[in-house]
Amino acid sequence: MTTRIRFDNSYARLPDRFFARVAPTPVAAPRLIHLNRRLALDLGLDPDWLASPEGAEILAGNRLAEGSEPIATAYAGHQFGHFVPQLGDGRAILLGEVVGRDGARRDIQLKGSGPTPFSRRGDGRAALGPVLREYLVSEAMAALGIPTTRALAAVATGERVIRETLLPGAVLTRVAASHVRVGTFQFFAARGDVAGLRALADHVLARHVLAPHAPEAAESPYRALLAHVVARQAELVARWLLVGFIHGVMNTDNMAISGETIDYGPCAFLDAYDPGTAFSSIDQHGRYAYGAQPQMALWNLSRLAEALLPLLASDEAQAVAEAEDALGRFGPHFEAAFHGGLNRKLGLATLRAGDAALAGDLLKRMAENQADFTLTFRGLSAAAENPEADAALRSLFVDPTAYDAWAVSWRRRLAEEPGEAGARAAAMRAVNPIFIPRNHRIEEVIEAAVEASDFAPFETLLAVLSRPYDDQPDLARYAEAPEGGGVGYRTFC
Ligand code: AMP
Ligand code: MG
Ligand code: MG
Repeated sequence: MTTRIRFDNSYARLPDRFFARVAPTPVAAPRLIHLNRRLALDLGLDPDWLASPEGAEILAGNRLAEGSEPIATAYAGHQFGHFVPQLGDGRAILLGEVVGRDGARRDIQLKGSGPTPFSRRGDGRAALGPVLREYLVSEAMAALGIPTTRALAAVATGERVIRETLLPGAVLTRVAASHVRVGTFQFFAARGDVAGLRALADHVLARHVLAPHAPEAAESPYRALLAHVVARQAELVARWLLVGFIHGVMNTDNMAISGETIDYGPCAFLDAYDPGTAFSSIDQHGRYAYGAQPQMALWNLSRLAEALLPLLASDEAQAVAEAEDALGRFGPHFEAAFHGGLNRKLGLATLRAGDAALAGDLLKRMAENQADFTLTFRGLSAAAENPEADAALRSLFVDPTAYDAWAVSWRRRLAEEPGEAGARAAAMRAVNPIFIPRNHRIEEVIEAAVEASDFAPFETLLAVLSRPYDDQPDLARYAEAPEGGGVGYRTFC
């Protein structure tokens, strides 16, 4: 047999206590739902082989690919503020790593592949609905240009999983720059295992920080690591806010060191803009509400900094000072990314005093008037070149005059910008998506798949979301907001 996947498993070469060796548990009747052929090619994998019965068996966990060294990784984490010293992959198995055509190393992981020594109470499985949700939302995020894990494949298992009711099961093949989490560092820190901490940090440095370049790393690699993660997370959360994304469960075990969005559970996009929105049924107090995400990211990074203290300096006071210095850079980094992004969304290529207030005023009016986040910014892209587009835009506001008053200030500011209106509108369309994974559309897809094994709606929505910035006139209904602005929508893990 030829080697179809060229695995190189650097994580499995780390010390034994980093993981448990465990193989996926076979399923009754694997059937490939969808293969991401484009991603397969980027990873240097043969999509035709992956779509063959042999490939589908590998993606289901029924057969182990040559060169795979399957492991479940150990990690800890703060869940809703409470520390759990041992979590780990309870329903995911890392098959191994591949180096893609771009030279970057990526994990290939099965999610929903059966129990592991870290499972504790759960069954190690995933239901079809959440697998399709993660597939759609993670691929939408990738198409939006936001760092994220990817979906390579979804396979139906032919088995039922027990949740509140019996539901069809599925396995997701997830691709990630790595699966190292803030909680992975916490796992070793909580045990006082400085050698483990250092081995993990060295792995991450080689994988994410030193490659391809990081000049400051040579002098103090572990401080550089912390600074790097702080910067990546500040940018990531800014980008979430700029498209209306709510992760929903930003526990420290769900924050990737790579800076990719990871662990899509109860995530959802905003319809009507309200910074207090929290969709997750388990987030009763809105800890991870849309507008709380920057603060929560910083909280998580503070836990990372604490875990890294033994590596930051030999003197403890010095280590704390280093940690505080690194964490202090989160705010300015976030503000720059967020306000720079807002300016681009408003068609402002230059940055002037007063711009943040202009954007803040719009957001305030949107919140007061239940304006749809995505449609408002897309509408502004049209209004920037054609004032007639104001009619549709102002109708998104409960009180349309709330838009009118703001638009006067916006146009006055636009008049100070260089460049012509057509080019400005095109630049705005490139940062203001028309298509996001709307909750009501995802629910339709899941219902068709679960109730009728009909995957046609999944395929259509996936195709729409692969071009989020392009007008797709035949599919305009996918851009529409739900009745009532999506208020009261609930997501479940
Ligand atoms: P999450 O909050 O979904 O990221 O998961 C938190 C922890 O629960 C992780 O350690 C997961 O591996 C574990 N977990 C979630 N669902 C299951 C399941 N069905 N079976 C076993 N472990 C699970
Ligand atoms: Mg082990
Ligand atoms: Mg998780």
